[in-house]
Amino acid sequence: MRVIHDVDTMQGLARTRYGQVSTALVPTMGALHEGHLSLIRLAHDRAEQVDVTIFVNPTQFGPGEDLEQYPRPLEDDLAACRREGVTTVFCPQAGQMYAGDHSTLIAESVVSEGLCGRFRAGHFDGVVTVVAKLFNIMLPTVAVFGQKDYQQVCVIQRMVRDLAFPVEIVVAPIVREADGLAMSSRNRTLGADERARALALSQGLMQARADVAGGERDARRLEQALSRALGKAGLQVQYAACVDADTLAPVRAVVRPTLFAVAALVGQTRLIDNVILQPRVE
Ligand code: AMP
Repeated sequence: MRVIHDVDTMQGLARTRYGQVSTALVPTMGALHEGHLSLIRLAHDRAEQVDVTIFVNPTQFGPGEDLEQYPRPLEDDLAACRREGVTTVFCPQAGQMYAGDHSTLIAESVVSEGLCGRFRAGHFDGVVTVVAKLFNIMLPTVAVFGQKDYQQVCVIQRMVRDLAFPVEIVVAPIVREADGLAMSSRNRTLGADERARALALSQGLMQARADVAGGERDARRLEQALSRALGKAGLQVQYAACVDADTLAPVRAVVRPTLFAVAALVGQTRLIDNVILQPRVE
């Protein structure tokens, strides 16, 4: 496995193999867990070589967010990548990715507006910009992203379509802990009590799924029930929203596949989760 820290070396390598071997890219911010590893395994099914990037991208963190606290266990991450048969890990320093006077940003302006976009100004501009840059450095055939960050996938799919990036986007399902909590690098920062209370997120979403299977169609009632359950568990809800699974526009009734997405603070830690609600065809 090659571990590369600088942009020119990585892009040089990518150019020598471009068109010769297919490559699947798994972009991450590190602190790898089973969710990331599931993406790497899916990547192996889709291409001859698998590349992982590990980069805690400063431009997608807002002021007061957890950029400094974000876990960075690089040696453990590299060992995990080795075990998973990764071909190349690209793990640049921020100075490698952004010149001191960098001045170009890509902005998606429709699907990035709601949900997390309302609470994290500039976040998705940072995401699409770094993903575009990683695509230009890594030259992947396919790139694998997790449904855990559903809105992120939508924004990246738009970018790929609108700017004609020659990359196929593959979406992987959410990997959960045995008790249902969606795996996240940020789970490491939860205290024991917070870890227990964080379960309200997945439990509330599963309850909503059961309610819809039982005939519930009213989006507002589902949203209110989830917000109440999270409040009861002591979580500070940012949003609990039913939106169209394709456009991310708010819906009033669950009559088509609907994304039920939630973000909440558990203590200082911001967690997100989601499910797709599938109404039964009557
Ligand atoms: P991150 O390191 O948090 O930026 O995540 C890197 C990639 O892993 C993103 O495409 C995430 O959606 C994906 N990911 C994170 N957590 C999970 C999970 N629990 N299950 C599946 N994919 C995940």
